[in-house]
Amino acid sequence: MGPGRAARPFATEAPRHAGRSRALLKVQDGCDSFCAFCVVPYVRGRSRSLPLGEALERAGRLLEAGFLEIVLTGADLGDYGRDLGQDGALPRLVEGILGLGIRHRVRLSSIEPHKVDPALAAMIGVTPRLCRHLHLPLQSGSNRVLRAMRRGYTREDYGSLLAGLAERGPVGIGADVIVGFPGEGDAEFEETRRFLEEAPVTFLHVFRYSTRPGTAAARLSGGVPEARARERSEILRALGEAKTRALRRALVGARLGVVLERGRGARGPLGMSDLYVPVELDQDPDSGEGILDVTITGEDGVRLLGTPVSRSVGARTVSERAVSDRLTL
Ligand code: SF4
Repeated sequence: MGPGRAARPFATEAPRHAGRSRALLKVQDGCDSFCAFCVVPYVRGRSRSLPLGEALERAGRLLEAGFLEIVLTGADLGDYGRDLGQDGALPRLVEGILGLGIRHRVRLSSIEPHKVDPALAAMIGVTPRLCRHLHLPLQSGSNRVLRAMRRGYTREDYGSLLAGLAERGPVGIGADVIVGFPGEGDAEFEETRRFLEEAPVTFLHVFRYSTRPGTAAARLSGGVPEARARERSEILRALGEAKTRALRRALVGARLGVVLERGRGARGPLGMSDLYVPVELDQDPDSGEGILDVTITGEDGVRLLGTPVSRSVGARTVSERAVSDRLTL
């Protein structure tokens, strides 16, 4: 255990706002995983969780303050509850927060793919008011590189998690990918590109590897020249944009649950759909409160465009099989 690894209490911090209707609630901090490239376990300490009762209390206060979406966050969110000896704590927390009312929804921030509780995965696309969106860092589509990164899962594990999610209709799936990790040759990069091309990922976040002193990866040989890493990053960024565009186009005609955010576009108020695709409304909604039902009428290359239909009490965002069938990329 290094100097940054001492047990620390859970830091109390004011919830952050992700918009006028969305609040970030941190329920976990630190990490015990030691991926080869990452400094989080050294700087944030051991994994620790906010006890369930306290997390529910904080969520309740956010709802009383008028927030319509609670985003659960953590440095290693999938580890929530393990330090407290509680199995299945994250799905129970999600259910608990959903049970605090009928007007709000819950979203999960980034979760390591091998730490997604099967009970939680089974809720996505099925449980009303749980956003159909997961951010699942992939990092590489090459098993050789994943092993060198000490990631703890294979591309096959990741692929079968996504296949299960995609079966239940449209789901927004974000993935982080690192290009230029030591030892990533052309063959490994091509494995990653092809894997992502075929996977039902809808948002790609591409990072070029940079060495963090003190990490295991800093001692690896086989560095990738910067120009090559940049080229790979551009290829994956273009792929990510095409995938997001395909999702937007597939959603035209769908009805989605939207919460308003700050600001207006050229046409009207801006909001966020449960799938994590931004939406611009073509008119101001009525003055009531709650998640808006919005019919998607088009997309402008950045956002979806939509018309508010009504305020729905606990809007179950529509899960159209037809939409996922249109995701052809
Ligand atoms: S990448 Fe995530 S799981 Fe891996 S060490 Fe960093 S915080 Fe932990």
